[in-house]
Amino acid sequence: DARIKRIASTIRVIPNFPKPGIMFQDITTLLLDPTAFRDTVDMFVERYRDKRISVVAGVEARGFIFGPPIALAIGAKFVPLRKPKKLPGEVISEEYTLEYGTDTMEMHVGAVQSNDRALVIDDLIATGGTLCAAINLIERVGAEVVECGCVIELTDLKGREKLGNRPLFVLVKGT
Ligand code: IMP
Repeated sequence: DARIKRIASTIRVIPNFPKPGIMFQDITTLLLDPTAFRDTVDMFVERYRDKRISVVAGVEARGFIFGPPIALAIGAKFVPLRKPKKLPGEVISEEYTLEYGTDTMEMHVGAVQSNDRALVIDDLIATGGTLCAAINLIERVGAEVVECGCVIELTDLKGREKLGNRPLFVLVKGT
């Protein structure tokens, strides 16, 4: 697909960010190319428009860039999954493991209902820990995670396996 090629070519790799040894995949350069940005959103919309998705859950922070235009286009609500102490209402929290230490993700109580069919959106899957936390939050309230969607998958880290039987759809694969 020519669109995938263009999208991949707009993603910038920054070595040693945020720490030595990390090759950071930077999607801000994708956003500078309106065609690539539109194509990215369109490719998710084409995949999900007929899947009866009722909620798009976006992972802070870059899931807040790609999630809302997808949600609007498919007629689903958008729910932000946020870092601790950012959401003002009552929340449920999910702790998850990082390379060093732990982090927490929060979701507003009542934002997702037990009969919802969810799509989880983030920019990138590495180890899969972040998407697992997102899935757990949604499944804890009884809703179904139909699929997770990311722009980039770092395949070497095998995050896909961590998601168990929840499908993962990505546009660009990297290592
Ligand atoms: P995981 O939990 O190890 O799968 O890491 C994925 C999370 O870390 C996502 O929320 C990403 O936005 C972020 N992340 C990890 N590596 C990168 C990167 O190279 N570029 C952009 N985001 C990254």
